[in-house]
Amino acid sequence: MTPARDWPAGALLPLTGYPQRVVRFVLGYEPIPESMSIIGGDRNRVLLEPVTAVAVVYADGWVLLDSGFNIDTIRDPEARAAHYNYDSYTAVVAPGDALKDQVDAAGLLWADLAGCGISHVHADHVGGLRLLEDGPPIFFQRAEWEFATTVAGLEHVVFTDDYLRRGLDIVLIDGDTDIAPGLQALDTRGHTPGHQSFLIKLPSMSVVLACDAADLRANITGARPCGWTATPALAAHAQASITRLHNLDAEDGVEVWPGHDPDWWAWNNVADQWTSDTGQ
Ligand SMILES: [Zn+2]
Repeated sequence: MTPARDWPAGALLPLTGYPQRVVRFVLGYEPIPESMSIIGGDRNRVLLEPVTAVAVVYADGWVLLDSGFNIDTIRDPEARAAHYNYDSYTAVVAPGDALKDQVDAAGLLWADLAGCGISHVHADHVGGLRLLEDGPPIFFQRAEWEFATTVAGLEHVVFTDDYLRRGLDIVLIDGDTDIAPGLQALDTRGHTPGHQSFLIKLPSMSVVLACDAADLRANITGARPCGWTATPALAAHAQASITRLHNLDAEDGVEVWPGHDPDWWAWNNVADQWTSDTGQ
């Protein structure tokens, strides 16, 4: 099994200063019934949702938060058939390798990647770990890694070969934890046993990436959780987590971004980042 180590208490990734900006990535799309994304949603209305990730950029390096699909699995017909065996769920990707291509387009260098935070082990979040062998620390909540390495499998839309790979430096944290200057992991369990969100302190505002604790912006504004949890017992945690995110969003200078909302501004016009002068 892929070994994991404890992240030392109080340690931070070796980055100077505070986050300067966030680069937004849309790494593919997936069809999701609205009822899965928000409790009470229409199960016959299928949304084509963006698969998102970000780079948190510092003066001397960057941190990747989530990583999209495993393109190698999607592009190999046998592997694709063995993994994506669902009635209505599949991966929709553009030509190329979205993560590699968008990192390049943003002018970021893999050699400067200081770390990676993974919200949870669903297949649309861990596929990019294929690029991080012999790379920097990869942060998981301990509860998520336990789920990932014991019961999780295809029936949970978890592909263990995405993260049980040689050469990954998996580091485990417990609950709310600072992982770099101005970058904190937040315990938002519920969608999965050890789901985490991320708080990024930018010069002008703080951004919270809800990841899959809130697929849609309406989850956050209405304090309504997603309609899916890994086990029924997690539903109360999912409600507590969305209430937490709803309250954070109400704070001055804080904006909580949903993980999969096709209409949320941050995931629209992502390509403008490579062509405009402002970067945001
Ligand atoms: Zn997701």
